[in-house]
Amino acid sequence: MNISLSPIVAVLGHVDHGKTSLLDAIRKTNVASREAGSITQHIGAYLITHNSQPITFIDTPGHAAFSQMRSRGANVADIVLLIVAADDGVKPQTRESLQFIRAAQVPFIVVLTKVDLPTAQPERVKQELEKEGILLEGRGGDIVVTEVSSKTGQGISHLLEMISLVSEIHEIKGDSEAVLEATVIESQFDSRKGALATVIVRNGQLNLGDKITAGEVVGKVKALIGDQGQNLESVLPGQAGQILGLEKVPTVGSQVKLAGEGGVVKVESANVKQQEVKEGLPAGADKPAQAGAKLSLIIKADTAGRLEALMAGLSSEVVVLSSGTGEVTAGDVALASSFGATIIAFGVKVPPEVLQQAEEDKVKIFSFAIIYEIFDWIAKALAGEVAEEVKILGRAEIIAQFPFGANQKIAGIRVAEGRIARGDNLTLSRKGEVIGKVKISSMKQADKTVDKVEKGQECGLIFAGTVDFQIGDVLESVR
Ligand code: GDP
Repeated sequence: MNISLSPIVAVLGHVDHGKTSLLDAIRKTNVASREAGSITQHIGAYLITHNSQPITFIDTPGHAAFSQMRSRGANVADIVLLIVAADDGVKPQTRESLQFIRAAQVPFIVVLTKVDLPTAQPERVKQELEKEGILLEGRGGDIVVTEVSSKTGQGISHLLEMISLVSEIHEIKGDSEAVLEATVIESQFDSRKGALATVIVRNGQLNLGDKITAGEVVGKVKALIGDQGQNLESVLPGQAGQILGLEKVPTVGSQVKLAGEGGVVKVESANVKQQEVKEGLPAGADKPAQAGAKLSLIIKADTAGRLEALMAGLSSEVVVLSSGTGEVTAGDVALASSFGATIIAFGVKVPPEVLQQAEEDKVKIFSFAIIYEIFDWIAKALAGEVAEEVKILGRAEIIAQFPFGANQKIAGIRVAEGRIARGDNLTLSRKGEVIGKVKISSMKQADKTVDKVEKGQECGLIFAGTVDFQIGDVLESVR
């Protein structure tokens, strides 16, 4: 059965041009029509209805989801909104976004934001866009251009109408009875719920109880959650839902299939090691425009809030190719390698196999625990001072604690990977989140002072200063 699909809409554009504000404004305009008391939940996408036309927005602004999905050849968005601030005009990430749009051959609408500002000059920005080869409607072309203010709400309703129109023109349809075609647009690990993945369904349907694969990850759909936190029975074409029940966290951009369909993976081997698929960008995809930009980064952070804070502080000389939460993946390394970008790991782990991949691909990964250190590093990198690459030399778990002196504690540790040495710079993490930097003042094995402990060994540590660690915390030695 061919049904009219909710178009799936993604937003792209330069940092600070108002992507998040627009997504918030659109979501808010629709809240009134929802049941009172419903709680919105961040699942990476939300559904609104405008004049009885459902529209699904991917609310992970920026290139994160989009570029990773594109690098796997999947066009998850039906329509892209190219966001350009009317007071700022075309910037490096605007050009980059345009390259993504062109390579993906996806219909797009130009959205001029912040038109409420006295400094807004929509006509000038339209001219700049024309210089980029965008033939705008009303100026000899057919690319729809709208003017909005997320602050006053001006133009939002018109934009939603334009989305419906473009969706009609491009006959965006899905078949709920076809073979399941779905893509992971966001994924994370939740300590209570386990692996979570938001998927967007393009064809077919995803139902509770389905046995599925998401890339190399297998699982069974134990629960499906919608953007209002509601339990869903199924997710239909053009809709999004968060899946509980995967055995591991799948990579963003993974294709979701019903087990047994479409030449699917070793479902029998539930213990199959999760491998990130290293795929290049599709042929013909050029590197993004670097005009005015001196440093291309891929940023991974532990929380969305910290990521946002970091992104908000970046200078226009920095191009963020992709950003997101969660540990650095082989997919990030592949993307960095394709674009010659550097990876910033902000309070997140770099698994040893990813580090190895990065070494092979000559991709640099820098790990930081504190936001200001990133800004300092960026300033140095832009000034051409080559900062040293940060490497994880070892990882250990705190397995015991003993009181020591008046207010100190001895940490009993076991080295899980690499080694831990006395002079090392260590980060202390709890439940995957970096909580501080520590130094060792004493390191002993059975009362004997040692300088280094290797994988599999245990020792007792006293940290310099007072460190409030707990059993289960993880120490990482970073260089
Ligand atoms: P993003 O980086 O593209 O997601 O941009 P944000 O949505 O975070 O917006 C960047 C800044 O522009 C924030 O300070 C917003 O408050 C402001 N902003 C966004 N949209 C508008 C708008 O329509 N009007 C005005 N006056 N400010 C806006």
